[in-house]
Amino acid sequence: MERISSYAKTLGLSRIPEILDSIAEKAADDDISYTDFLEKVLEAESAAAKERSMTALLRFARLPFIKTLEGFDFSFQPSIDKKKVLELATLRFIHQGENIILLGPPGVGKTHLAVALGVQTAEACHRVYFTTISDMIMRLTKAFNENRLQERMRVYISAKVLIIDEIGYQPLNSEAAALFFKVICKRYEKGSIILTSNKGYGEWGEIFSGDSVIASAILDRLLHHSTTINIKGDSYRLKEKRKAGILKSLDERRC
Ligand code: ADP
Ligand code: MG
Repeated sequence: MERISSYAKTLGLSRIPEILDSIAEKAADDDISYTDFLEKVLEAESAAAKERSMTALLRFARLPFIKTLEGFDFSFQPSIDKKKVLELATLRFIHQGENIILLGPPGVGKTHLAVALGVQTAEACHRVYFTTISDMIMRLTKAFNENRLQERMRVYISAKVLIIDEIGYQPLNSEAAALFFKVICKRYEKGSIILTSNKGYGEWGEIFSGDSVIASAILDRLLHHSTTINIKGDSYRLKEKRKAGILKSLDERRC
């Protein structure tokens, strides 16, 4: 057992020493063949390897929380075409370098869906990276000032899927818009972007301080190969508060 553990360690097979005893015992009880025994050992090691790579990919992704599509209540948000979302969950969009744009007012599940697709991406062993637009611009501006823009840019370019959350909450000045445009251009037709915004496309000029030229240049590239999910509905956050009775007085006042 010691020698096997040592070989396993040399080969980087960390699960084998942990499970060999119990698999060997069960194999003796069940009287299984040598090949079936080997299969069970390799199966356990391969499951552990997948788990390790998933943990590393999720750490790299910097998702703000873990949410899944199973945890999304589609019946609460009938404006969402569930079939379209499930099609996106097959991850065909990644192989086709397509973008996903989730639009809608606050609390309707844009970040939830973006994160769920991000988790799905990591599960398929692809690199995904999550950022809010304000954090991305802040870091790129800092990197630019410190003469290391290329290096920071790589973080946003290298992932197979880049999630950019919360576009539209704050206007972007012309330097910020130029950095955002650079990211979009570098990823164009190479890597997918999942983007969320509380503003419809018609209002995107406002985000870029009225610069409709850069707004349309960005939209042009983003939308070329893309799927838009336009969510029109109530905030799920408010639904939960309503349920708890917190908004009752507000509703009564509105009536
Ligand atoms: P948005 O990004 O559109 O502002 P979020 O995705 O942050 O909204 O959603 C707000 C909260 O409500 C999150 O905790 C999210 O998981 C939850 N939520 C939103 N919509 C749904 C839904 N249809 N089913 C389950 N949870 C939801
Ligand atoms: Mg959000």
